[in-house]
Amino acid sequence: MKWDHLSVAEQRRVQNEKLHQFLTEVIAPFSPYYKRVFAEHKIDPRRIKTVTDLRHLPFTSKADLLPTSEQPEKFREFIITPDISVLKHRPRVVAEALLRGRSAVERRFEREYRPIFLTATTGRSSMPVAFAYTDYDMRNLRTAGARLIQTFGATTKMRGVNMFPYAPHLAFWQVIFAGLEFGMLLVSSGGGKVMGTDGNISVIEKIKPEAIIGIPTFVYHVIREAHAQGRKWPQVCKIVLGGEKSPPGIRRKMVAMLQDMGAGEVRVCGTYGFTEARMAWGECPTPPGEYSGYHLFPDLGILEVIDPETGEVQGEGKAGELVYTPLDARGTVVLRYRTGDYVDGGVTWEPCPYCGRTVPRVVGKIGRQSSTKELQFGKLKGTLVNFDSIQQLLDDTAEIGEWQLEIRKAHDDPHDVDELILHVAPDNGANIEQLKEKIRNRFQTEIELTPNRIEVHTLDDMLKRIKLESSLKEVRVLDARPKE
Ligand SMILES: [Zn+2]
Repeated sequence: MKWDHLSVAEQRRVQNEKLHQFLTEVIAPFSPYYKRVFAEHKIDPRRIKTVTDLRHLPFTSKADLLPTSEQPEKFREFIITPDISVLKHRPRVVAEALLRGRSAVERRFEREYRPIFLTATTGRSSMPVAFAYTDYDMRNLRTAGARLIQTFGATTKMRGVNMFPYAPHLAFWQVIFAGLEFGMLLVSSGGGKVMGTDGNISVIEKIKPEAIIGIPTFVYHVIREAHAQGRKWPQVCKIVLGGEKSPPGIRRKMVAMLQDMGAGEVRVCGTYGFTEARMAWGECPTPPGEYSGYHLFPDLGILEVIDPETGEVQGEGKAGELVYTPLDARGTVVLRYRTGDYVDGGVTWEPCPYCGRTVPRVVGKIGRQSSTKELQFGKLKGTLVNFDSIQQLLDDTAEIGEWQLEIRKAHDDPHDVDELILHVAPDNGANIEQLKEKIRNRFQTEIELTPNRIEVHTLDDMLKRIKLESSLKEVRVLDARPKE
């Protein structure tokens, strides 16, 4: 199917049809979790006929998936578990059995419903949650992958090096299956832990890829090292980034270094995806400093934008929290999943001004809700500080075990300037002075500010600090300024 140039009306028709079918034929009969939720909320899935009707379903959030003492394996409730006695009486299935034989039908049920693969969330403090895929979902993962490569404007003749860390995480496997489905040579280095920086550089030297794919901070690091070693990578024309946000500064620096290494025009494409969606979406190539937004796959899932306070669905182009519902999935399925990601440009159905695709796009900056704060470091004007970027930086610093940022007033005087204090618990064996120096340098280059103080704690003390206010949500940024 021509997935990316359908009219809005046609896309909506496909979505409505698939949603209704998915809820009535898969979710209502076979999802242990939603069967219960529908009963509790007296929801009749047959009455949900359009995407607009989705608002009658309650949200699902991360907390619903986390293990509790009564239910240590809560995530299992979300796995689609077919009732064969229901399935085999469906007219379609009866016809299929007559035509192809019973064992062929049983084999197909297996492929459709049996989990054969999984990826898990990356939780630093919270428990990782596993999402299961059946063969049916693997096909969706491959489809999404091939479409991602199309979105990046790559061709089968190009080659790519995948530097995402080898792990049961979506990013690595999305790239693997993208290459297999699209039919393009993609070599996976496994990232820094598997091959080291030099290992990654030599893979790129050998494969001579047009595309380099990975986590922004690591891709940047590898390019910087190769640049310092005087390598020449003239063929590189695409950088694909994922797994964390890629600030404009880092993109600019990568392109400048690559051009110094002989490359011509280099386009950087970001991606957005999450474990719960079991797929990712991408930006198309744009001139430096411009962003196309993430191109969605309208026949595979729906991203709603809601007001995080009221839960109301926002109009087109309005900011809010992203909420995901798949349209055609098996394995672990969550409906109306609250991502906790806040997008300032919402979702638009305007054709993309860069590639002309008519699919909906998530536009603007995506961050954790209210992750930007204005701090008063000087007497005169405030500084906007993006706590998302700081979080990335700290999470990415290997020697840090745990961390917390605290905003205080200097001298505890409500009329004085703001101070930013970084609390860290170093990993065992880290040299504390070197670590402090490294953190200050990275803050200076990547965030363009440095913490007023860095305070070192034991891991136990840090864990107490992080859960200071509530036991449900970790407290990464503590605003300890007196309220007005
Ligand atoms: Zn585009």
